[in-house]
Amino acid sequence: MKYDVVIVGAGHNGLVCGAYLAKAGLSVCVLERRPLVGGACATEEVWPGYKVSTAAHMLGLLQPRVILDLELQKFGYEVLATPPIVQPIEGAGPIVLWRETERLVQQFARFSAKDAAAYPRYLQHLAQIGPIFRQLMWEIPFDPSVMGVGNLRDMAMFAWRNRGLVGRFHDVADLLTMSAYDYLSRWFESDAVKAIMGYYPAGGSGQSVGFHTEGTAYFLLRGQLRENHTPAGGTGLVRGGMGTVAEAIARSGARFGMQTRIDAEVERVLVEDGKAVGVALANGDEVRANLVISNASARHTFLNLVDKSAVPSDFRTKLDSFGGRATAFKVHLAVTDLPRLEGIEASGFGEGRPSQITIAPSVAWLEQAYADLQAGMPSRRPYLTVQIPSVVDPTLAPAGHHLMSIYGGHIPSGPGADHGEATKQAVTERVIATIKQFAPSWSGEYLHRHVMLSADYEAQFGLPGGNPHHADLTLSQLFFRRPVPGFADHRTPVRDLFLCSASNHPGGGVTGVPGYNAARVVLRSLGRRLA
Ligand SMILES: Cc1cc2nc3c(=O)[nH]c(=O)nc-3n(C[C@H](O)[C@H](O)[C@H](O)COP(=O)(O)OP(=O)(O)OC[C@H]3O[C@@H](n4cnc5c(N)ncnc54)[C@H](O)[C@@H]3O)c2cc1C
Repeated sequence: MKYDVVIVGAGHNGLVCGAYLAKAGLSVCVLERRPLVGGACATEEVWPGYKVSTAAHMLGLLQPRVILDLELQKFGYEVLATPPIVQPIEGAGPIVLWRETERLVQQFARFSAKDAAAYPRYLQHLAQIGPIFRQLMWEIPFDPSVMGVGNLRDMAMFAWRNRGLVGRFHDVADLLTMSAYDYLSRWFESDAVKAIMGYYPAGGSGQSVGFHTEGTAYFLLRGQLRENHTPAGGTGLVRGGMGTVAEAIARSGARFGMQTRIDAEVERVLVEDGKAVGVALANGDEVRANLVISNASARHTFLNLVDKSAVPSDFRTKLDSFGGRATAFKVHLAVTDLPRLEGIEASGFGEGRPSQITIAPSVAWLEQAYADLQAGMPSRRPYLTVQIPSVVDPTLAPAGHHLMSIYGGHIPSGPGADHGEATKQAVTERVIATIKQFAPSWSGEYLHRHVMLSADYEAQFGLPGGNPHHADLTLSQLFFRRPVPGFADHRTPVRDLFLCSASNHPGGGVTGVPGYNAARVVLRSLGRRLA
């Protein structure tokens, strides 16, 4: 059978793209190399009876538009009420990061009256810039170097749609160019508040960066990229793990006829007379289609799947320098005994057993973790996002057992880095020792462990350099430069071959946006619109 569309990869963006196209009436076949859907948004039973979100672990960005359009709530998508994060702070003990502004302000007042007063103003400031970035996410980047009438019209329409940017231009530029540390220092004076507010940009975002790296201020805004008060619900841990998000998208697409095949590795994109006409699978099968969309990374697509002769060498050269190696890791532990942080009951936090702990007790801790990496060694005191999702969702582990999912940094990566068993054991021991430093009564004993380093994310998930975003979200790799200047609109140098992944604007995270935007471009190329 010949399809209208064949999609390489059933990551969440491939599935979103396919579901929208199937909904618009096209015949769609999605081919996934792995034995499960979701790409880096997956749940895997790494030990019998445990459901582990082996890559993405938190739903913070999936766009309400996608959830509602695809009616994901009808197909098993459910975000659970998740208790607030607790973060131990040097000299002050564990701080509960309440979501309610007034309660968090009270916590900040312990460190600085000035910071407590500044926090609501800071939030208001980001909330004013948030809508600009939310609007930008849905834009199909144009090429500002092209003069044609159509392009000039697109640019003019872009400028009009985003006119809010004009009055806020310098605020936006600050976020895109400044370091998180410098940006936060404009608002806050206390080390503790900076460590709390700066944890995500300086570590938790998964980029291999430090607190002082230029451009990291952008990650302070990530929380503003999603509206949380819509019928699509808020953010948090997902029932059944992150894989249920991808499964819900696949099921939603299936009712419009979208076919999804797992264990179906694409070996080659078939190109005839400069046009993509289908794919050849590793098992020798061919799947023909009117057009091909790749959810695999741009690098994998063009450096491995498309014949060299079909692509200008300049395009390949530029893709070669599109990237950024990851240095974050994940350690998953099956346990019966959970860390208990002394003192959080006093903050009104139940039994002192949080489902999420951030370990970054000071600015110096975050800086040292990165300095160790720059010196070529694993962070001696890693920053850690410790999640115990089974506290919220008991279906993730057998009765009486718990799952600890720990994300942290850094472990050097790239040529010469050792990501073997000895390194994994050393990481596990360092992670356990670090947690015990703040929860001394925890035994640190585990029944099973599973460690993922960047080499594993590259080999198993196909993430280039193990990068969670396919390529770093830095100024040189954003918007009309992502993945390659001149080809940021999901089109490629090969006719009827499109891209729909985190390699595209607006980058990584489980957002669904690259998949949605690619579906729009494809339908527009057929003279149609989204249904
Ligand atoms: C450790 C880690 C933690 C993260 N934490 C979070 C988080 O908490 N929250 C969040 O929102 N985001 C998080 N992310 C980022 C997020 O998971 C990714 O950015 C996002 O899932 C990328 O989705 P995608 O569909 O664009 O690409 P991918 O998920 O990379 O999907 C690409 C798909 O293509 C398939 N494929 C590749 N080559 C072929 C081929 N030749 N044939 C067939 N199939 C192929 C792959 O197997 C894969 O399924 C995390 C990522 C990592 C690695």
